[in-house]
Amino acid sequence: MFNRRELATFRNQLLGWFRQFQRDLPWRRTKDPYRIWLSEIMLQQTRVAAVIPYYERFLQRFPDVRSLAIAPQDEVLRLWSGLGYYSRPRNLQKAAQQITAKHKGRFPTRLDDALALPGIGNYTAAAILSIAYDEKQAVLDGNVARVLARLCAIRGDIREPRRWQELQETADTLLEQKSPGDWNQAMMELGATLCTPKSPQCLLCPVAQFCEGRRQGIAESLPGKRKKRATVEVALAAAVFTDGKGQTLLLPPPKSTRENASADHVPTLVSRMWHFPTFSVAGEPGKDLIAFLRKELPEEQNCNWELVPAGKLRHAVTYRAITLLPFLIEVKNLPRVSGAKRVPLTDISSLPVSNLTRKVAQAALAAVASAKS
Ligand code: SF4
Repeated sequence: MFNRRELATFRNQLLGWFRQFQRDLPWRRTKDPYRIWLSEIMLQQTRVAAVIPYYERFLQRFPDVRSLAIAPQDEVLRLWSGLGYYSRPRNLQKAAQQITAKHKGRFPTRLDDALALPGIGNYTAAAILSIAYDEKQAVLDGNVARVLARLCAIRGDIREPRRWQELQETADTLLEQKSPGDWNQAMMELGATLCTPKSPQCLLCPVAQFCEGRRQGIAESLPGKRKKRATVEVALAAAVFTDGKGQTLLLPPPKSTRENASADHVPTLVSRMWHFPTFSVAGEPGKDLIAFLRKELPEEQNCNWELVPAGKLRHAVTYRAITLLPFLIEVKNLPRVSGAKRVPLTDISSLPVSNLTRKVAQAALAAVASAKS
C-alpha cells in the first residue's frame, strides 16, 4: 500500500503523535505483563472510564498473578461485579492458576503459550506480548480495523473472515519493528480518539495525507455496516423476597453452562453470579412466577404469597432485549433453598452480583419505600 519512504513517514508521524498526545492511563505507566493483561481483559467491550476504578481496586487486592491464583472465586467476582461479561474474571483466574503452575507466575513470552491460556485470543495475546515484551505482534481489534478500513478504503463488512484476514495482513505489514508495543497502542489510540466510529477528526489526524478513505470522501461511511443478529425480546420475572428484618434471598451461580442451558429458572441472562429467583415468563408474569416458584420451592407449596409489582426495567445482553419484572414478596420467614444466601436487600453487593440483579434490588427498594410512604 505504501512505498518504503511513505511507510517510514507514516510510522514516524503516527508514533510521534502517540508519544506526544497519548492519554495518561494507569496501565500505560507500567511494563508489568500482569497489569497489562488485566487492563486488556477489563477493556474488552468496556469503556476506559468505567475500567479505571475497577482496575485500581482489583490491583490493590490482587497485586500479582499468584495472589489472584489463590483467591476465593467469589472474591474475584465481587471485585468485578458491575463490569459485566463475567466469563472474563473466571478465565482470568484460571489463567493465573495455569501461569503459576506452568510459567513460574510470569505471563508467558511465547505466542503459542499465551494463546493456550483461557480467555486469551489473538488480539489479547498480541497486545500483551507487544506492550509488555516488545514482541513483534500486530494487534487487530475493532478500533484498529476501523482505522485500516478507512486508510485503505475497504468497503463491506470487515468482520467477514476473508476481509478480517486481509486487515490482519495489513496490520502486520504496517507494524513498526523497533517499538511494536508503542506502535500497537498508537494504532488503537488513533481509533479511540480521532478516527472514531462517528465524525472522525481528520483535520487533527497525523496520517491524514495517507488516508484513501478521506481522499475519496467516504471515510465516515467506513467500515460498512455489520450484519447484525436480530434482536430477541425476552421477559423475565424476578422474585424479591423480604422478611421483617429486611433480609432477602439470593440464589448461587449455577455451576456450569450445561446446567444453565437446561434450567429455565436460571437463565444465562442473569449471568453466572448470585441472583434473585428469576424466570422466563410469557403470559401473566405474576401467575407464571408463582407457578415456577411452587415448582422450584416444593416446601413452600402452601404459601399464599402476595406479589407486589416493583416496576418494569429494560436491560440488554448481546442480542437479547430483556424486559425485567421484579416482584416484591413480603414473607415472615424466607423460603429455605439449598445453597441460597440471606443478605440485607440494601446490601446485596456483599456477594458478587450482576448489574441486572442490582437493578432489580433498586426497583424493589423503591417499591418498599413507596409502600411505607
Ligand atoms: Fe481516520 Fe480521518 Fe485519519 Fe483517515 S484521515 S485515518 S478517516 S481520522
